[in-house]
Amino acid sequence: MRVTWSGGVLTFRLDPEDEITGHASDGHPVKLAINSCSLSDVPDDAHPDLFAVAAWTVVAPWTRRRITFDRAVSAEVAAALHEGWGIEAGPVGAEPRPAGSTLAISYSGGADSVAAATVYPEAPFVHFQRVPHARVPNRWPHYRSDVLAKLARGTGRDLTIIRSDLEYTLAEPRPGYPEHQAVAAGALLSADRLGLGGLGFGYEMGSRWLGGGRYLLRYTPDNDLWAPHGKWGRLFAAVGVHIVLPVGGVSEAVTMRLALGSDLKDSVRWCLRGTDGPCRTCGKCLYKELIQAAIERRPLDTPITADRPVARKWMRPPPYGGQEMVQYGLARVPGIENTVFATALTYFDVTEESTSWLDHCYPKAIDEIPEPWRERAAAFMAAEVGFMTDDEVRRVESWGS
Ligand SMILES: [Zn+2]
Repeated sequence: MRVTWSGGVLTFRLDPEDEITGHASDGHPVKLAINSCSLSDVPDDAHPDLFAVAAWTVVAPWTRRRITFDRAVSAEVAAALHEGWGIEAGPVGAEPRPAGSTLAISYSGGADSVAAATVYPEAPFVHFQRVPHARVPNRWPHYRSDVLAKLARGTGRDLTIIRSDLEYTLAEPRPGYPEHQAVAAGALLSADRLGLGGLGFGYEMGSRWLGGGRYLLRYTPDNDLWAPHGKWGRLFAAVGVHIVLPVGGVSEAVTMRLALGSDLKDSVRWCLRGTDGPCRTCGKCLYKELIQAAIERRPLDTPITADRPVARKWMRPPPYGGQEMVQYGLARVPGIENTVFATALTYFDVTEESTSWLDHCYPKAIDEIPEPWRERAAAFMAAEVGFMTDDEVRRVESWGS
C-alpha cells in the first residue's frame, strides 16, 4: 500500500499483494469502493506520525504486507504497525510525537458519547461529519449528519468539526468506517493544533469488555479495538494520542441514564433518520426504547409491531447484539411479555437482581484510563454510578462462558 496526503486529501494505491476485499479489525469483511477520500480543515503541517496513523485507520483492511508513506515516520509507529499487524512500514526517520496534555472527546451525539462527555465537562469535542463523496453515489440520503453537527454546535463546548467522505471508500457493507478508529482520522490530524494527549470515545462496557454489538459474546480483556494494550491502543499511544474510554466500565443503561440526566440531554440523538428527533420505527430506535423504558420503569412505547421487518430478529433465538442490555430490559420493562420481545423473553431466565451488575461500574475500566484523566473518572463513577461488588465483577469476567 502506498499513501499520499495533499491538502486534506488521502490517496492510496494498492500493491500487488493487496486485495480489495479485506477485514476490519473486528473481523467484518469490507470491500473497497474508491481509493481516495478527503478531510476538511485539517492542517498540512501535522506530525508525520499523525498523517500515518490517520491513513492507517482507512487503509488497514486492504493492506497485506507493507505500507509506504509519503513522509518519514518514527521507529515507534513502524514498530507498532509491525507488532500489531505484521506490516512493514516506512520510510522511518522521524522523532516520535510527544503526548499533549488535552483530552478531547470524539463526539457523535449518541447517548454513550454524551455520557463520556459528562465525565469531563471541560473537554473539547471533535465531531466527525459525513459528507458525500464527489465521485460515489450517496445511497444513504436519509442519514442526517447535518442535524448531528448542528446539535454538536449547540452544546456550547469547544468544538472542531471534521467533514469527511472517508466512509465512501467502502463499497460494502454500506457507507461506513473502514476501521472503527477512522472516526478519529480528523482528530488525529488536528492533534498538534489541539494539544491532544488523549481522545475519549463513547464505547461502553458491552463494546470494551463483553465483545458486544455484532462481535463476540465473551469477556474480552484483550479487546484489540479498544484495550490500551491492544494493537490500536498501542498505535494511538505511539503518536501521543491515548485512547480513553470514560464510560468503558458501564452499560448502555448507565450511559443512557447519565446522558438523559445531563445538561446535554437536549443534544442526545441516537437515530439519524428523523430531523426533529428519533424516527421510532428503525431497529436501533426499538433497541434504545427497550433500554430507556427499562431505566424509566415504564411500559414499552413503540409503534413497531411483531409483523414488521425490524421486529423479525426478535422472533429468532439469541444471541442478540447487546444481549446484556436485552436481558436488562426483559427483566425490567412492565408488560414486556405482550410486546415484540415476547419470544426473546422465553429464552432467558432473568430478574432485576441477576441483571443489577449492569447498573454499576467495572473497576478495571477505570484502572486503564491514563493517569492524567483517571482520578476524575474514578470520582465521577463513585459519585454518579457506584462500583461493582466482587460478585458483580465476576458476572463481567464470566460473560459468555
Ligand atoms: Zn430510528
